[in-house]
Amino acid sequence: MLNRPKHNRKNHPKVFIKTFGCQMNVSDSEYMIGQLEQLGYQETEDIFQSDLILLNTCCVRAKVEQKIYSLIGKIREIKENNPNAILGICGCMAQKEKENIFKRAPYVDLIFGPSQIDNLIEIVNNIKSNKKQSIFCNNSAYFNLKNVPVKRKSKISAWIQIMRGCNNYCSYCVVPYTRGPEQSRGVPEILSEVESLAQKNYKEIFLLGQNVNSYGKDLSKPTTFSKLLELLNNINDIERIRFTTSHPKDLSFDLIKTIKNCDKVCEHIHLPIQSGSDKILKIMNREYNVNQYKNIIKEIRNNIDNTSITTDVMVGFPGETEEDFQQTLNVFKEIEFDDAFTFIYSNRENTIASLMPDQVPLQVKKERLWRLINLQKEISTKINKKLEGEILEILADKKSIKNIPNQLSGRTRTNKTVVFVGNEELVGQLVKVKIINSDTWTLYGELVK
Ligand code: SAM
Ligand code: SF4
Repeated sequence: MLNRPKHNRKNHPKVFIKTFGCQMNVSDSEYMIGQLEQLGYQETEDIFQSDLILLNTCCVRAKVEQKIYSLIGKIREIKENNPNAILGICGCMAQKEKENIFKRAPYVDLIFGPSQIDNLIEIVNNIKSNKKQSIFCNNSAYFNLKNVPVKRKSKISAWIQIMRGCNNYCSYCVVPYTRGPEQSRGVPEILSEVESLAQKNYKEIFLLGQNVNSYGKDLSKPTTFSKLLELLNNINDIERIRFTTSHPKDLSFDLIKTIKNCDKVCEHIHLPIQSGSDKILKIMNREYNVNQYKNIIKEIRNNIDNTSITTDVMVGFPGETEEDFQQTLNVFKEIEFDDAFTFIYSNRENTIASLMPDQVPLQVKKERLWRLINLQKEISTKINKKLEGEILEILADKKSIKNIPNQLSGRTRTNKTVVFVGNEELVGQLVKVKIINSDTWTLYGELVK
């Protein structure tokens, strides 16, 4: 049951946005709020106060999708109490499910896919004037963020979408279907956005794309991700440049050299491996094998000092035997990732993998996940322990979540969270911290004056 509504309306219409899924969705929501503010909306965390409710959804795994459908079910009550509130479902699940959402929840007013986010002003004006259920799911729309207003949550670190969509069609993944084909954003547009962020005192930029290593290939004047990094590295006052996600099949030696030579590009590479078995990688359509992956890691470690490497991995892909899974465990032991996002393979309709024989029973998947997580915890703990005693550069970004007075947290260049005591005025600054203690996920330190 949802809590009772509170009625305390002020003049501005209110919008409630809940975001599910990846950083790209978080960034999309920032663009949605920016556009809605232009229409006079104010963001609220109180769903009962809202005139517009937007769920920015994800459907990479079935569990998230079920959770979103269940939330849509609960919102029915709110719509009954306030029939004028507009309920919109957007993002990847909206793109995948389209009219099915209206069939399951006829009180939903609006459905739009991720490629339509830049047109939100038009979409909202349209539904307010014609008051009819509407759906906007053309996912080949031209990617254009120029002049689209954005309201960033952070004043220190900014998400920058450099590309949209994906051409890779990994056999398990819905993203190419929900986000459409790869489209790069023009270099001048990205540079001018980052220059204006630098003038607003932003210290860190986080470049986003499903496969940033293929950035620029589709532009009318083709370029490379390395060239983009070099140009961004020259922008004064930006201190740190990060990016995600890299695809092993496209990570070139040229990029490794660029990361080494560009002082602002941080020493952290997120490089999804997905499996340690060549047989599974092949049927995943990942286009690299384990040896090639290990060679990239070797090149990275030989060329860039103290890089942290994180990964995504899946267990229980169709046909994964105990032996295949052992190979994943072995690669994890050998490479020693700093951290890993570990997933149980989730069967997504209309993907090639959903039609494959030998689907692995859920109990087996859970047990494999548990073994892999335990191994990764041991590795992450060991790596963090080695950092005790070191003095590291931290970008202080917020008060620590535990809300202990004067406790701040920030990130190392290698993207590790560090908690330390310091004055709130340090938020947004680069500081030196000596690491005193550590656990699996966090480093604890003291400010070095
Ligand atoms: N583009 C990135 C890449 O190539 O790795 C990642 C995008 S994807 C949304 C994020 C992660 O979700 C993937 O790396 C993969 O591990 C996981 N994932 C994607 N489809 C999945 C599925 N059907 N079941 C479980 N995990 C999945
Ligand atoms: Fe999905 Fe593969 Fe594209 Fe990543 S590269 S978004 S996993 S299809």
